Amino acid sequence: MAERKPKKQAKRASQRAKEPIERRFPPSRTHMRTATALVGFVGAFMLGAGVFGQWIREPAASFAPYLVAAGALMLVGSLVINDLGLSALRVGDAGVALEKRSELERIAWCDMQRIHAVKGSLVIEAQGATLRLPIRPNAVAIAWLLRETVRRIPDVLDVKAAVMDQLPKPREDDGELVPIRMLQIAGRRCKESEKLITFEADARLCPKCAQVYHKESVPQHCATCREGLAGRTWHT
Ligand SMILES: [Zn+2]
Repeated sequence: MAERKPKKQAKRASQRAKEPIERRFPPSRTHMRTATALVGFVGAFMLGAGVFGQWIREPAASFAPYLVAAGALMLVGSLVINDLGLSALRVGDAGVALEKRSELERIAWCDMQRIHAVKGSLVIEAQGATLRLPIRPNAVAIAWLLRETVRRIPDVLDVKAAVMDQLPKPREDDGELVPIRMLQIAGRRCKESEKLITFEADARLCPKCAQVYHKESVPQHCATCREGLAGRTWHT
């Protein structure tokens, strides 16, 4: 028994190191903005008054249809706006991903150019994409995102210490650990050879910044972050 246990642990640890993972953070629904909540509340009230005026009151009030329409619009609008800022976030080996219904909007670490805070949101600027994440409802996810940024691509971090200090300290039991599968890599070019990646299976990714290489052109060190790549790349 004394011999078997360390062997088992070592095997599990090595398997874990090879499998790309990310942390999934469901949004906190307790942070509905006051203004959005107020619009929704007024909308619901107007809708109720409109329904009463149109279908219950005798005779029907002439303005009731407008109340119904405006109330419904405000109510639906407030729910949509609230949902926009409340998508689950993922942070891990592949970068950051925002869950949008059945799809994931991903930005790889290697594509990020600047991360900064503007009016309560964290803004991630990348090649061809910008992600704006409200900080308060995503505080734990953003704390992890910034910790990973410091570890992986510190040069792009442009967030003031005052903002960082307000975030909770990342804990190992934060979020839910999920394996990274189905990465969209086909269509990208190998950073080393510029060869077009046509099959996901041909791609090899840097463990630190997720830079993409063709399996036949993996360099000794990552061209983006200088991480040693020999035997350390991953693929999905
Ligand atoms: Zn790299």
